[in-house]
Amino acid sequence: MKIREVRTHVLRHELPEAEVFGSSKGWHAARQALLVEIVTDDGLSGFGEAYGPPAVNRTLVDELYTPRLIGRDAFEHAVIWEDLFGTFRDYGRKGWAVAAISAIDIALWDLKGQALRQPVWKLLGGAFRREVQAYATGLYRHRVADNARALAREAEGYAAEGFRAMKMKVGFGLDEDVRNVRAVREAIGPDRLLAMDANHAYDAGQAIRLGRKVEAYDLAWFEEPVVPEDVDGYCQVRAALRIPIAGGETEYARWGFRELCARRAVDIVQPDICGCGGFTEAWRIAALASASGVTVYPHVWATAVGFFASLHLTAALPPNPPAMLPSEPLFELDRTPNPLREQLAQNPPKRAGDVLEVPAGPGLGLEIDRRVLARYRA
Ligand code: CA
Repeated sequence: MKIREVRTHVLRHELPEAEVFGSSKGWHAARQALLVEIVTDDGLSGFGEAYGPPAVNRTLVDELYTPRLIGRDAFEHAVIWEDLFGTFRDYGRKGWAVAAISAIDIALWDLKGQALRQPVWKLLGGAFRREVQAYATGLYRHRVADNARALAREAEGYAAEGFRAMKMKVGFGLDEDVRNVRAVREAIGPDRLLAMDANHAYDAGQAIRLGRKVEAYDLAWFEEPVVPEDVDGYCQVRAALRIPIAGGETEYARWGFRELCARRAVDIVQPDICGCGGFTEAWRIAALASASGVTVYPHVWATAVGFFASLHLTAALPPNPPAMLPSEPLFELDRTPNPLREQLAQNPPKRAGDVLEVPAGPGLGLEIDRRVLARYRA
């Protein structure tokens, strides 16, 4: 199975004004992605996705990676991974360089599964679960006078949909954060799981102050309290609070996750399969986490391609720790409007309440709707 062609698709969707949403990093007015399609000499076509601004990722794939891929055996994902990373490591050990490799690696696993007529989760060693419990990612900042009230209504909507867990944004100043967390917790009651995500808006001191002010609201985790480079800050926050700490969505490759895991900077590590290096590297990161007693909840902020890939990965992650009634990985289900997630698959995964079915078709099990691909091409 030789690689014949590598196609790059930049997709973009401008959000209508009413759907623009905010995090501590700013307002989000568009959804965009790079998809990589690898075509083999026997006519198979595999898809992958790269996390982050797509124009740069596309240039990396087209200019640097594709010339090294043509004619290679598509089964040799690990050899290809080392070749791409090793050839360019002097210039890019994190960020785009690894995100672009991720897209290629996911496409290679999709191809391998199609060729062997097996889903990727089976190639990874089998599924510990064929259904995953999702948590709703939403509760962003809105352009309204009273965000606390708007968040409470939104949270009630997720609860009514059947979500037992949800995650809200903080990072807008301690007073507003506390007001918002209180409003959401009061809206959903004591039994549902609530997490908060600062998108690294604070330094360690501020994060600790916020954490202490909201400890009474029983948070399941505090995500990205400080900037990803500040591993000492993560350790300081984690030691000071009774809330589990999560992070890792902006970390890359096994070397990036080594310190987070070995120093127990986080309780929950969140590799994004479209950023951290694809299936090949996510699997190594999961092994690092397992060896360090750290739980893995994949970060998912993707089109249907990354969404499907993340479902396969989540199905194959061993429970941490194993038990008769083990604590299972929670799947991040982005509830913000995004047609690239909702429309690109002709066969979206079935969802009942907050339970998602893991795709069973060969490879990613994803049937791309080429008309949708064309509609959102930038
Ligand atoms: Ca996050």
